[in-house]
Amino acid sequence: MAWDFETDPEYQEKLDWADAFVRNEVEPLDLVWEHQQFVPLDGLRRKAIDPLKEQVRQQGLWATHLGPELGGQGYGQLKLALLNEILGRSSWAPIVFGCQAPDTGNAEIIAHYGTPEQKARYLQPLLDGEIFSSYSMTEPQGGADPAQFRTRAVRDGDDWVINGWKYFSSNARTAAFLIVMVVTDPDVPVHKGTSMFLVPTDTPGVEIVRNVGLYGEPMNDGTHALIHYNDVRVPHEALLGAEGQAFAAAQTRLGGGRIHHAMRTIGLAQKAVDMMCERVLSRETAGSRLADKQTVQGYIADSYAQLAQFRLFVLNTAWKIDKYNDYKKVRKDIATAKIVMPTVLHDIAWRAMQVHGALGVTNEMPFFRMIHGAAVMGLADGPTEVHKTTVAKQVLRDYEPTDDMWPSEWIPKKQEAARAKLADYLELEVGNQ
Ligand SMILES: Cc1cc2nc3c(=O)[nH]c(=O)nc-3n(C[C@H](O)[C@H](O)[C@H](O)COP(=O)(O)OP(=O)(O)OC[C@H]3O[C@@H](n4cnc5c(N)ncnc54)[C@H](O)[C@@H]3O)c2cc1C
Repeated sequence: MAWDFETDPEYQEKLDWADAFVRNEVEPLDLVWEHQQFVPLDGLRRKAIDPLKEQVRQQGLWATHLGPELGGQGYGQLKLALLNEILGRSSWAPIVFGCQAPDTGNAEIIAHYGTPEQKARYLQPLLDGEIFSSYSMTEPQGGADPAQFRTRAVRDGDDWVINGWKYFSSNARTAAFLIVMVVTDPDVPVHKGTSMFLVPTDTPGVEIVRNVGLYGEPMNDGTHALIHYNDVRVPHEALLGAEGQAFAAAQTRLGGGRIHHAMRTIGLAQKAVDMMCERVLSRETAGSRLADKQTVQGYIADSYAQLAQFRLFVLNTAWKIDKYNDYKKVRKDIATAKIVMPTVLHDIAWRAMQVHGALGVTNEMPFFRMIHGAAVMGLADGPTEVHKTTVAKQVLRDYEPTDDMWPSEWIPKKQEAARAKLADYLELEVGNQ
């Protein structure tokens, strides 16, 4: 019976190395080069970061989600999950290990649907960690509902001309290229009339109007671009995948992206648990340590329980992705992980913040950022409500309605059936009395 929760010793050694490496070598980058992860390396940062990337490569941990043909190890999603929960502690770690969103997902689409020319031009430098990419799908008037998308590409001879607005195109301002999802045929349902284009960010007409910041970031100095595509002309060869195939391609990207976020969230939530435990063991008030107070013990137990459930679920989902090699077959579980993720991170970070008292709500501790991160997780890659609909629909596929007036578990009817089935014994029982 194959049912094993152990990591093989060889890979565990690598994980132990990664754990120490992230804590000692990578987490300091978060403190000195905050928000710089997606800025192409200048001479100084290159000097510090290239040797770290090299160490990761030597350990065979660079881009472990990719197969060997793309420069990775072909370790698959389960091993990536175990690694990602270590990387989740640090904003810089995914960059140093070559597995940062949104580039991983964007690389997956190009690897899957790109022509040899597109792969040579965009994929290789992306995989080498030398350039960044942006995924430009959401529009100001609608993100969760693609039927609201208005940005159009119209064929003009050998070219396509793109016009419209996109919102929240993360990292567009530092990206070398955008993957833009646009309507190419407005006369068919949006799922069949939408296509993807690879557009270099310096193409004339790509106008970044604002760089929207998240809460706490300076106004108009964030990383989520509002872009006006103003008569952006690209050759037909810029089409990524077949015309009208954007939604199929997007699923390739989003399935992986969502579960990778969940893997990293385990690491971040574990960091909050670690901080909470250290604090409650260290702080004494009203005659005892915080750790000895029953309510605080409840915080610890609830956090441990939430995280343990979430972690096992994410690992199991990663295992299924490796087993079936088909995101569609694991859609229900990926969506479930996506639903649970914001709540787990929010609840644990909130409790950790609370036990730190006033210090917890300052900008000298990372709790608010974590809680804000939880809110982001409930929106990026689709709102929780939409994923709940997906899960519910998939769950209901395994059920049938009943024609009977009563539910099939209605006890009087089942009792009658049970009595009929066991009538011989029941008669004997009566006879024995
Ligand atoms: C940090 C961050 C990074 C992002 N990066 C990118 C990116 O790189 N590229 C990109 O294209 N997009 C990106 N997005 C956009 C993201 O995909 C959208 O925010 C998301 O799809 C929701 O779209 P919306 O914001 O337009 O909200 P809306 O679609 O307006 O939804 C608003 C709210 O309405 C409710 N709602 C919506 N639909 C339903 C429904 N069917 N049933 C019940 N309730 C519903 C939910 O409460 C939802 O939160 C990013 C978002 C964030 C926060």
